[in-house]
Amino acid sequence: SSMRATRVKRTKTVCTYCGVGCSFDIWTKDRKILKIEPTTEAPVNGISTCVKGKFGWQFVNSPDRLKKPLIRRDDTFYEASWDEALDLIASKMTAIKHEHGSDSLAFIASSKCTNEENYLMQKLARSVFGTNNVDNCSRYCQSPATTGLFRTVGYGGDSGSMHDLQLADLILIVGANPAESHPVLATRIKRAHKHFGQKLIVADLRKNEMARRADLHLHPTPSTDLIWLSAITKYIIDQGYSAQAFLEQRVNGYDEYVASLESFTLEYAEKTTGIPRAQLIQTAEMIHAAKGLCVLWAMGVTQHCGGSDTSTAISNLLLITGNYGRPGTGAYPLRGHNNVQGAADFGTMPAWFPGYQEVQDDEVREKFEKAWGTKLSKIPGYDNHQMVDGIHEGKVKAMYLFGEEMAFVDSNANHVHAAFEKLEFFVVQDVFFSKTAQFADVILPASPSLEKEGTFTNTERRFQRLYQALDPLYESRPDWKIIMSIANHLGANWTYEHPSEIMEEAAKLTPLFAGVTYDRLEGYKSLQWPVAEDGTDTKILYTEMFPFDDGKARLYPVEFTPPVEVEEQYDLHLNNGRLLEHFHEGNMTYHVDGIVHKVPSTFVEVSHELAKERDLQDGALVRLISPYGRIEIRVAITDRVHAKELYVPMNTRADAEAVNYLTSSYHDLATHTPAYKEMSVRMEVLEQS
Ligand code: SF4
Repeated sequence: SSMRATRVKRTKTVCTYCGVGCSFDIWTKDRKILKIEPTTEAPVNGISTCVKGKFGWQFVNSPDRLKKPLIRRDDTFYEASWDEALDLIASKMTAIKHEHGSDSLAFIASSKCTNEENYLMQKLARSVFGTNNVDNCSRYCQSPATTGLFRTVGYGGDSGSMHDLQLADLILIVGANPAESHPVLATRIKRAHKHFGQKLIVADLRKNEMARRADLHLHPTPSTDLIWLSAITKYIIDQGYSAQAFLEQRVNGYDEYVASLESFTLEYAEKTTGIPRAQLIQTAEMIHAAKGLCVLWAMGVTQHCGGSDTSTAISNLLLITGNYGRPGTGAYPLRGHNNVQGAADFGTMPAWFPGYQEVQDDEVREKFEKAWGTKLSKIPGYDNHQMVDGIHEGKVKAMYLFGEEMAFVDSNANHVHAAFEKLEFFVVQDVFFSKTAQFADVILPASPSLEKEGTFTNTERRFQRLYQALDPLYESRPDWKIIMSIANHLGANWTYEHPSEIMEEAAKLTPLFAGVTYDRLEGYKSLQWPVAEDGTDTKILYTEMFPFDDGKARLYPVEFTPPVEVEEQYDLHLNNGRLLEHFHEGNMTYHVDGIVHKVPSTFVEVSHELAKERDLQDGALVRLISPYGRIEIRVAITDRVHAKELYVPMNTRADAEAVNYLTSSYHDLATHTPAYKEMSVRMEVLEQS
């Protein structure tokens, strides 16, 4: 009947499962999700999605959703009203601020949440509490890539668009596995490679799907990417292959940079990286032969002590070969979360207001002081690594965190948990009772993306709107409303009635997205920053200028940072990353039956060689031990990993097998991104399968 037809609702939304930013219509009837329908209008994916975008939504109706605010009483929690919870938060946070100062408070934002929510979080920290102690999970992943790009070309984002990837003659992927982590983006490369003669080189410890498809798979010794990247750049210069005209007109620092490469000979690179000289030359020659090169990289590069420097080396290579500013060229740091780009763009970072405007810049600060009507701190805040240390040292006393499973995803989990235990007051806001929530004093029930409006920014700097498909379940509320309530309980007078008003305010204060409005993003419309006031957006960065005073890029010399030394007993290298089917710590996808049925838990990948040496069978239970902790996990024997290198997908809900009990507190020197990938363990066999 027509009655029934009107109950079926069709809503445009944006996927929450990775930085590709697929958008599609979701069909619902009451709370039932009928289907996902991608359409040709979707700017990124057209009619494609991956398994997560297509089937990963049932979690919104999980009986495990948080229903009401919860307040700790000894070792349990009782259900409270919103007013009671908000009053408690306001009074506790205010008392701690008065006793220990503004910088004893810390705020963790969320790359799963919208731009508007992240904007409000940093505004709350800065204008209501007076601290710049606000950070987000880009600290766990792509901050080093941003640093590498800031040093050399000026903008911390993909320099081109995803559509351009198919225009490149050559794709070089370093330390990334887009076939599982960015599936729809990977499809474009697979297609161009298979049908249109595009060449593909993959440098990775694992023979992952992209490496299997590649024309050339480089397998470097762990943590040595900077060396081979610098060596092929030197070879390219020595052969006279550098892009002379481009370098002369558009790039500074050539002589100094060339001098810095002196020690990076092919001999040295072959010896330290284990990549045969012939493969290094082949890589350089393929780059020289290509009219356009795109380099894609992710956590395999960034999560090292030298992550920022290796990211810089990638950008240097692109500059030397003139691969910026044209279609089918450029730097593509692949953002993991759906809105990791936007969270950083909107200022949930300790040293930057929205749009990477420095808190130390007096003019910028005065602009925000005027707009927000309060005095702001000019001292850059703690990043999340410093927050954890700050709690251990007694400097940080209270934390407010939303949509971040820090207890599982930060490195050295035991160290992080011990910090949480020491907090005087801890507020966690989430959709589920997360591992992190177990440490909280107050837990606030938030609404997932389908229950609210807002915008996300994907890996190619593209703003897209999501519309509300469902009402908030139980007493949950959208994060932006909760943050506003907390501000208003503390005497702020925020009056946003719709996320569009938050965007309007942010755009006014931020030149990078001055022309972003909800009207210009209606339906499937999208904009890529920088967006000028008249709404002109930017598909390819640096076509004419680099955003430095003289308009020129900068070659930036870097040195090799050797990996962390380990005791001999930790004889196996442990790598970690993602799985196609699950998202991150799994709070969402482990609440989707179909996905859990297919991939019920995580596992450790072991090479045939090692399995033979240790007499291991597929499915055996082993204990992995590092200096920081231990986990127990099932073995999967595979040719994806090499010799004494192991791989554990990070995606699990099970405490016993979470890889970050093993990882250390070592970190990238420039950004404090944990060196998750510099890890060695030993293995004990507990039971054969
Ligand atoms: Fe979602 Fe990423 Fe899959 Fe697209 S590729 S459907 S954005 S998880």
